[in-house]
Amino acid sequence: MLGRMMEMPLLISSVLRHAERWHPWVEVVSRTVEGTTVRSSWGEVARRSRRLANALRSLGVQPGDRVATLAWNTHRHLELYFAVSGMGAVLHTINPRLPLDQLRFILQDAGDVVLCFDATFAPLITPAAAAPTPLRHLVALTEAGALPAGAPDGTLAYEALLAAEPEAFEWPELDERTASSLCYTSGTAGHPKGVLYSHRSSVLHSWALALPDSLSLSTRDVTLPVVPMFHVNAWGIPYAAAMVGSKLVLPGPRLDGASVADLIGAERVTNLLGVPTVWMALLQHLEQAGTRLTTVDRVVIGGAAAPPSMIAKFQHDHGATVLHAWGMTETSPLGTVSRLLPVHDALPEAEQLRVQARQGRPIFGVDLRIVDDAGTALPHDGATAGHLHVRGPWVASGYFNREASDTHHDGWFETGDIGSIDALGYLTLTDRSKDVIKSGGEWISTIELENAAMGCAGVRQAAAIGVPHPKWLERPLLVVVRAEGSGVSADDVRRHLESRVVKWWLPDAIEFVEQLPIGPTGKVLKRVLRERFAGYVLPG
Ligand code: AMP
Repeated sequence: MLGRMMEMPLLISSVLRHAERWHPWVEVVSRTVEGTTVRSSWGEVARRSRRLANALRSLGVQPGDRVATLAWNTHRHLELYFAVSGMGAVLHTINPRLPLDQLRFILQDAGDVVLCFDATFAPLITPAAAAPTPLRHLVALTEAGALPAGAPDGTLAYEALLAAEPEAFEWPELDERTASSLCYTSGTAGHPKGVLYSHRSSVLHSWALALPDSLSLSTRDVTLPVVPMFHVNAWGIPYAAAMVGSKLVLPGPRLDGASVADLIGAERVTNLLGVPTVWMALLQHLEQAGTRLTTVDRVVIGGAAAPPSMIAKFQHDHGATVLHAWGMTETSPLGTVSRLLPVHDALPEAEQLRVQARQGRPIFGVDLRIVDDAGTALPHDGATAGHLHVRGPWVASGYFNREASDTHHDGWFETGDIGSIDALGYLTLTDRSKDVIKSGGEWISTIELENAAMGCAGVRQAAAIGVPHPKWLERPLLVVVRAEGSGVSADDVRRHLESRVVKWWLPDAIEFVEQLPIGPTGKVLKRVLRERFAGYVLPG
């Protein structure tokens, strides 16, 4: 027997319609590439998105067509999020930090018909679109008559397109499984792969993201996604903020510590989201300026492991609670969130920090398991580490334009991450499988080693890699970036580690560098580091 409930598809346009109808006055504030601040609202975003949908239709965009963006977090990018998906086309967000050959590949593979770009990226357009593609129109995200230097001939201005169109547009009643957006993985090995989200997956993911034990987004929040809208839909925040009626603050191109701190203060931001490298810059700025954050309630840290020292700083110095989250491009991205349970309330602070540094518990909709090399499920004892598999309605079932996927088996997606799960359901990642250090047949957790090292006074960043060893096959080399003005030595770091990790995990060597190689999604590029230290000879 079927239930007698209304059939209403879960559509991105329904999220925008809700925002316009029930909290049109809530502000959307955007710093632009031009350096101005544009104050808009969910009502205004909805009206301009309809104009934009008309403009795209006038340009010949059909349902299913891919419309690409090379853009920062701004109100115009937000309008593209809603207009492109809402009209039944596919928003293809491109990461401008990818190398040129990958940009070219992605444009071709996606078959984009329109490319919208911020002035910053004008010099990329001609080389990126050099190979034959179905691209028909280029749109610069600028005022009419303010086309950026270097934009190819025939480039259209976004504001001129909008000004020429009416505000009325009927969002089509799509099948909720219709593709809504496309984002390529950062492809550390081989070509990047396209993850094709649907309206249903995006709406469900954003809904789950807003729950209280998840990222807890509400109409009382002023949300600042420093995480870019050009990767994994800025973690779904644009949709979730529209859903709950959170004020949304979009930082534009300036993501340095001072600019972000200034924006937080000016807009009274309560909720921050970003990767650890961005927070490192913010915390360093705040320390140097001798200022505290006074409005921030929560800082979501994801995309790479949040070191306990960073969690402690936000909580101690700035009175914010850190929510450490794990996810991937293929998981929309939210999979797990680390929050304390009532059983942790009475624990000493150091113990609580240890819980928060785990990657967290799955939110409803995400199922996890860890398996051994043979694929046998492993116990949730907090000690046994295995390959992490996930499944759920916002986990990719395959890749765009590819018949087969070698990362999908038995209805599970193989994440490539290694970790353990404890009796309370907390996932602890120890490594990316490509980055493990295997010493004498036993794993050394690079994440744990790096977290411990980053707790040492004077250490700004640390990354551990395996280097060949005649007896143990591999031993850890720790590569460290000193904090500004610090003279921390290898002996200091070693002494700090001695009481924090087991003896056989201690790095055989510690090297200092000016900076670590950072990839297009803000993560340390271990592959590049291994290349840099190829042939390294360990002492003794
Ligand atoms: P991407 O698909 O580029 O977003 O990268 C996803 C990968 O980032 C995951 O498979 C993890 O290896 C890593 N990652 C994401 N969040 C975390 C986290 N909280 N701790 C450690 N690694 C993480």
